[in-house]
Amino acid sequence: MKTEISAGIVIRNKDKYLLLRYVHGHWGFPKGHVEQGESLETTAKREVMEETGLNIEINTKFHAKINYVYSLETEQIEKTVHFFVGCSETKRVVLSDEHVDFKWLSYAQALNQITYVNEKEILKKVDAYFIKKENR
Ligand code: ATP
Repeated sequence: MKTEISAGIVIRNKDKYLLLRYVHGHWGFPKGHVEQGESLETTAKREVMEETGLNIEINTKFHAKINYVYSLETEQIEKTVHFFVGCSETKRVVLSDEHVDFKWLSYAQALNQITYVNEKEILKKVDAYFIKKENR
């Protein structure tokens, strides 16, 4: 089976999380394909800049990944997506043509809006990470 690797960032502004609506119709986090020779962090930062216009510093203490299989024409693709976290000072987002909408949502709203269960699980881990970090 063909494999694909992407990396993205779960972005927070105060207590809100950024979600994008993909042209495919689903809601999720900004992410994109790893190019040859690129580190996962470099990919995640580059893709976030391309897809949202935001320059995000990655907090390297959080790293989680998901796996899924999807079909492209007659092909099955096994995909791994790595997620990091980062904070944004601004809510000003400039979308590329890969997405059709964006929303800054509270944890509960974002959990409800995210389409895929595996990305909901990522958000749960991220929120738990921020709660722990803020209470320290
Ligand atoms: P990338 O953002 O990595 O460049 P892409 O926009 O080409 O990727 P995906 O967002 O991975 O592609 O979507 C490809 C297919 O996989 C679509 O049919 C989509 O509905 C499905 N898909 C996207 N995210 C998930 C997920 N977290 N779990 C399962 N299926 C997903």
